[in-house]
Amino acid sequence: MKSIDSIAQELEGYDPQALSAGTVNAFLSRLVEPVTNHEEVGIFQALGRVLSHDVISPISVPAHDNSAMDGYAFDGAQLRTPTPLVLKVVGTALAGKAWRGEVQPGECVKIMTGAIMPTGLDTVVPQEFVTRNTEQAGKPAGASTSTEVIVVPAGLLQAGDNRRKLGEDLLQGRPALQKGELLAPAALGLLASLGIEQVRVWRKLRVAYFSTGDEILSLGDTPREGAVFDSNRYTVFGLLTRMGCEVIDMGVVRDEPALLEAAFIRAAGEADAIITSGGVSVGEADYTKAMMKKLGDVAFWKIAMRPGRPMAVGRIGKSVLFGLPGNPVAVMVTFLAFVRPALLQMMGSTAKPPPLLKARSLEPLRKKPGRTEYQRGTVTTAPDGSLHVKTTGNQGSGVLSSMVQANGLIVLHHTQGNVAVGDEVDVMMFDGVI
Ligand code: AMP
Ligand code: MG
Repeated sequence: MKSIDSIAQELEGYDPQALSAGTVNAFLSRLVEPVTNHEEVGIFQALGRVLSHDVISPISVPAHDNSAMDGYAFDGAQLRTPTPLVLKVVGTALAGKAWRGEVQPGECVKIMTGAIMPTGLDTVVPQEFVTRNTEQAGKPAGASTSTEVIVVPAGLLQAGDNRRKLGEDLLQGRPALQKGELLAPAALGLLASLGIEQVRVWRKLRVAYFSTGDEILSLGDTPREGAVFDSNRYTVFGLLTRMGCEVIDMGVVRDEPALLEAAFIRAAGEADAIITSGGVSVGEADYTKAMMKKLGDVAFWKIAMRPGRPMAVGRIGKSVLFGLPGNPVAVMVTFLAFVRPALLQMMGSTAKPPPLLKARSLEPLRKKPGRTEYQRGTVTTAPDGSLHVKTTGNQGSGVLSSMVQANGLIVLHHTQGNVAVGDEVDVMMFDGVI
């Protein structure tokens, strides 16, 4: 475990009084460590968990060459002739019921999607492309020995068309999913396609959180002048739960040293990470910062960003501490920009952050170079299919309704200046994240 000071020394341009967003991420990625215990869970419990080992395919998928279409299977070598191909239908292959006979040149097998390709056949002509004739086989009338014959038009197909190859999805013995994969619905389906019911995943991350401030009311408290209801605990609860963390809600902790000390000690004893909100701004007349300093190895930052700015980061015991600002929007923004990537790393996830979307700004945006700004925005699709973005208006860091209204954060990067109407800007979309 590296100390705050030693990490600070590793980072070029580390200035706790004016830290760039990029340096914050770099700092946190050095501070946190992935959990080390894993457990085995059933597939229904695996959604949102992170694989602790590679999953090796016990089988190939598909297990056999099979047809991708309803049609007729034949040997594609016969397509070399430039004339239509006339083929006699000698059998039927159904999904789950293979046709085992031998097929000669000039013959084909009627085949359904998913049916195993009969031996020696590599090509399927979809049924809608053929003309069908019924030939009387020269037997006396009444004998039901009519033979179906199909005609495959010339120039339509190449050998191998409409056949799915053995193992084209997954090959036996090869990693189907890798350690660090955050299991999404597609991965659950993939595991099932391999017949796998149990997987090994990293244990869930435990995160404790509490709000600080004497003016903060818990739900159910009697409103009083100057006091506000605690909203941060609920956004933090939602953000953590969406990430699949185990949450420990420690309520509102009043600004008294004994209460704060007890809360930090309990949180550090139970959780991998502690998230607090409030009490970290400059000139705060409270004990939160003092207690963090007393109990842990903590840095107090001013981040070159908006909203956000103050943040405390470090360790109390073995727990990582994220001391977020108090303003409700600042809590969400600092969580998304800094805490979330750090927690994903702690969860053992190797996922890269989703790419930012590019959208044209429908309005001019004032922006000072030298800090990162996150403006709440609504991205819409213009009639020509391009993406447009508009801010939600008032960007005050307490205006939580704007976070509900927005579908993403416009990210105005550190060195970026003013944005003119029609300029492209980057947007961090909320979908799937918050
Ligand atoms: P602070 O960072 O403690 O100076 O708080 C900044 C602003 O955020 C103040 O207006 C606080 O009342 C408000 N605030 C702090 N904590 C919360 C909370 N848990 N829920 C809602 N607002 C909060
Ligand atoms: Mg406060």
